[in-house]
Amino acid sequence: MASPSILDNYPDYEVNIGIEVHVQLNTKTKIFCRTANGTSQEPNTNICQVCCGYPGVLPVLNKKVVEYAILVGLATNSKISPKSFFARKHYFYPDLPKNYQITQGALPICTEGNIEIKLEDNRKKIIRLIRIHMEEDAGKSLHSNMSNESFIDLNRTGTPLLEIVSYPDISSSHEAKEYLKTLRSIVQYLGVCSGNMEEGAFRADTNISVRKKGATKLGTRCELKNINSFKFIGDAIEYEIERQITILEEGQQVIQQTRLWDEKNRKTILMRSKEEAADYRYFNDPDLPVVEVDQNWITNIKNSMPELPNQKFERFIKEGLSPYEADILVNDIELANYYESTHKLNNSKQVINWILRELLGYIKDSKITLLECKVTPEKLAKIVSLLESSKINNHAAKEVFDIVAETGENPETIIKERGLEQIGSIDELETIIKQIIDDNQKQVTQFKAGNEKLFGFFVGESMKRTKGKGNPHLIQELLKKYLNN
Ligand SMILES: [Zn+2]
Repeated sequence: MASPSILDNYPDYEVNIGIEVHVQLNTKTKIFCRTANGTSQEPNTNICQVCCGYPGVLPVLNKKVVEYAILVGLATNSKISPKSFFARKHYFYPDLPKNYQITQGALPICTEGNIEIKLEDNRKKIIRLIRIHMEEDAGKSLHSNMSNESFIDLNRTGTPLLEIVSYPDISSSHEAKEYLKTLRSIVQYLGVCSGNMEEGAFRADTNISVRKKGATKLGTRCELKNINSFKFIGDAIEYEIERQITILEEGQQVIQQTRLWDEKNRKTILMRSKEEAADYRYFNDPDLPVVEVDQNWITNIKNSMPELPNQKFERFIKEGLSPYEADILVNDIELANYYESTHKLNNSKQVINWILRELLGYIKDSKITLLECKVTPEKLAKIVSLLESSKINNHAAKEVFDIVAETGENPETIIKERGLEQIGSIDELETIIKQIIDDNQKQVTQFKAGNEKLFGFFVGESMKRTKGKGNPHLIQELLKKYLNN
């Protein structure tokens, strides 16, 4: 079942979406100087003459950036160019001190890759990539609310970026979100990017055009810039599809523009009309040599490649998880790692149930991240093994989980201190159940006369008298035995 889309209202139309993603690489230093790569400090403290574009300085390429580009290229089935070049892209912006950005032009490091995404009906679709290129990030302009002033923070200048450009193969807002989620998990699995959208480490510009079905030429596109959540991107695409179709239906023409998503009013708004590539006067940067990549280097990087999301998915299925379970884990690398650490300590099938129900439920309710959660894989593995060895029952296990989550205490200490051990000895339970039967003769008579619902009453009494610590299975067995005597 496909999720509803505004396109359902316009069966004659189709949408073509191409996405440019900027991936901030988490190398130790910036792309063309030795300044530390990281922007969380005081403004303009994380800078040097190179990233500030002083006259006479020379950029030196960070080899790690090339390695990361090749890694992402290989993970997306791209061709790695044996030779590629850096180019200057000229534009004036206060946060770009050189008045040009160093990027790659006609010949980028990776070309013609592709990414496979999963559709809602579980079919797969290939989204082709035009190119992946390396470039430097610009600084940030900060506009004051208090005074009529603007400020510049250059900490971000020279942060290495990969720009990953797709063909307009994406044909719905749902596919766009799937594509971005898949790409984000790839760069996270490769360990080259945090994937944090709110901090701008993973930014998507979306090009959208609509056309009548069967038309051979693409419609005029509009670009949606820098939207920082998957949900907003989906909403903005839906809005933009309707806006463009309405224009065409009124006999007007769509004008090529860059637009922003206004979340408050839930619509896209004009940012600027689009520059043409010619306006940037690209030419090869004479300060930087050709980037040469030999086969040996590629092979070494290939051999160091970590497991990718789709490979992890297949492995989880082989190890006995359902596609539903595997999908939830794979989409969140921290959760997948959590599962694997827990599963290593306790290979019970119950582990996944506890993670998907108790752990995710707790994290969601208490609005914390997995890494902040006090129930570590070691502690969860322990709780599950105490449950499986009948040391505690399910009821007590949930109580222990909650206490660990609040306090971080050791499960075994909690059980000892609070007396949560399950009463599993038949003798002890037998005494309690005989007593219950003696005390409730009226109900016993009614039960024997055919009122079977009363069985629940006896179970309830037993749990009450064992303070919830009785082994439920044994209680049921014993009740059946004594009530039917
Ligand atoms: Zn620098």
